Amino acid sequence: MEQTLSIIKPDAVAKNVVGKILDRFESNGLRLAATKKIQLSKADAEAFYAVHAERPFYGELVDFMISGPVVVSVLEGENAMAKNRDLMGATNPKEAAAGTIRADFAESIDANAVHGSDSLENAAIEINFFFAAKEIC
Ligand code: GDP
Repeated sequence: MEQTLSIIKPDAVAKNVVGKILDRFESNGLRLAATKKIQLSKADAEAFYAVHAERPFYGELVDFMISGPVVVSVLEGENAMAKNRDLMGATNPKEAAAGTIRADFAESIDANAVHGSDSLENAAIEINFFFAAKEIC
């Protein structure tokens, strides 16, 4: 059983489609081991996306991620990391396959509805960033 981190980003929370996105996970064999709605601080968002600090869109990404609350979840299941990436679709919603979360709920490459860990190593780091061990069950 793998675990991976999902974030429903401020655009999707503002659109009131949290339940629809969580349903995509549950309907595709992933279980919610933890979930909570939080407002990130600027320091939180900068630290979470530190890996992108040198990219030209880093400032925009941080500003977007603090523009409203997000819903962070630990998804658990067989091949959870890759399965979540498949369900999300391509980073740019215009390139995302039909039926993926980004194709159905996202507007643009920055407001792209969801984040998902891109490796098991990063999943462990990202889960630890948001959740205490006792919150994951
Ligand atoms: P992901 O793993 O599919 O989320 O994509 P990346 O790790 O490559 O990028 C992280 C996040 O940065 C993406 O989900 C987007 O929100 C944002 N991002 C990526 N490329 C761009 C870009 O060219 N412009 C802007 N504004 N944001 C971007």
